[in-house]
Amino acid sequence: MTRRVLFLISDTGGGHRASAEALAEALQQLHGTQVVCDIVDPFAEYAHWPLNKAPDAYLPLINRYGWLWQALWRLGEHPASWRVARDVTAAWQADRMRTLFAEHPADLAVSVHPLLSQAPQRALRAWQPGIRLATIVTDLTSAPRMWYDPAVDLLVASCDEVATAARAAGVPPARVKQLGLPIRLAFAETPVNRADAQARLGLAALPTVLVMSGGEGMGPVKEIVDALAGALHDPPAQVVVICGRNAALQRWLASKPWPLPVTALGFTSNVPLWMRAADCLVTKAGPGTIAEALACDLPMVLSSFVNGQETGNVSYVEQHGVGVYQPEPGAIAATVRSWLASPETTTAIRVRARRLARPHAALDIARALSDLL
Ligand code: UDP
Repeated sequence: MTRRVLFLISDTGGGHRASAEALAEALQQLHGTQVVCDIVDPFAEYAHWPLNKAPDAYLPLINRYGWLWQALWRLGEHPASWRVARDVTAAWQADRMRTLFAEHPADLAVSVHPLLSQAPQRALRAWQPGIRLATIVTDLTSAPRMWYDPAVDLLVASCDEVATAARAAGVPPARVKQLGLPIRLAFAETPVNRADAQARLGLAALPTVLVMSGGEGMGPVKEIVDALAGALHDPPAQVVVICGRNAALQRWLASKPWPLPVTALGFTSNVPLWMRAADCLVTKAGPGTIAEALACDLPMVLSSFVNGQETGNVSYVEQHGVGVYQPEPGAIAATVRSWLASPETTTAIRVRARRLARPHAALDIARALSDLL
């Protein structure tokens, strides 16, 4: 009998969708056509105005109105105010949630977004009592409390800190499983070596720095590439920048004359191969990108973090010795230059990254989800 799985996501950044796609891919690999997966963004596709604009507002909110983001974050962390906000929103959006569930009937609903892990899931169970509910926490250590609903049938924690926080928030311990953060199955495949990856991507055979900044390509990427170009042309190296959905950044990078090869990409689904082609990574502290870099044993410099949900990612990376935090472009370039000149340092980082990595997380989580079906 065919089983249906409904993934609840929101396109705030690129990580939530990437995780849902990884899990859908893993379920498909395990069960073929026996399982049908739907990935739905309840905000963008169903919510009443102005909540339907929430995904579009996310980027300006964290980039330009950090104080407002901080205030909302604190609201979410305060149990009483969060409960009021959650219940008012649930009552206001109830008719739209019923439409969503009628159009996407499911045996199992899986939230991969903190704002979707309580209200829509509860509405779904009221509407369809037999449904099973799972939450996959796609943040690392500083995951907001909103993720944790004691009523859920399964909560998958990305790391030990999240498992501890979930239990402290009242999720029954037997329902909490620490299985890692789900990343695409390609990260679990036998790795191609760097030279092969560079050849397949049409890159020069040079030391390679990969620069990423989440699905939206946010933050001071131009300044970082400028600093890298100044520091790395002698001995020669090359820079690859994944600009994600930031088309203006890609155009700017492509239009400048650089003293070393700079490849500027738009949104690519081939991140695993680009990571395999690189010697090190410069990135904002996005949890998805960090988990992927660990799976590729890639030493990383964290150049920025979103205050709140990404704050803990910095200490996570530094404490495990798999990278450093450097917000200043000149210091980033100096660190990268020293890493490229010192294979012993990067080899030691790679060994630690391999120990921490969970390349098979998507398949492990898909098996746990299958138990609920
Ligand atoms: N990503 C991608 N293609 C791109 C840029 C980013 O597939 O061109 C993916 C990246 O591999 C990661 C996700 O988008 O899986 C970004 O997630 P992260 O949690 O690092 O940051 P967010 O964008 O959610 O803030």
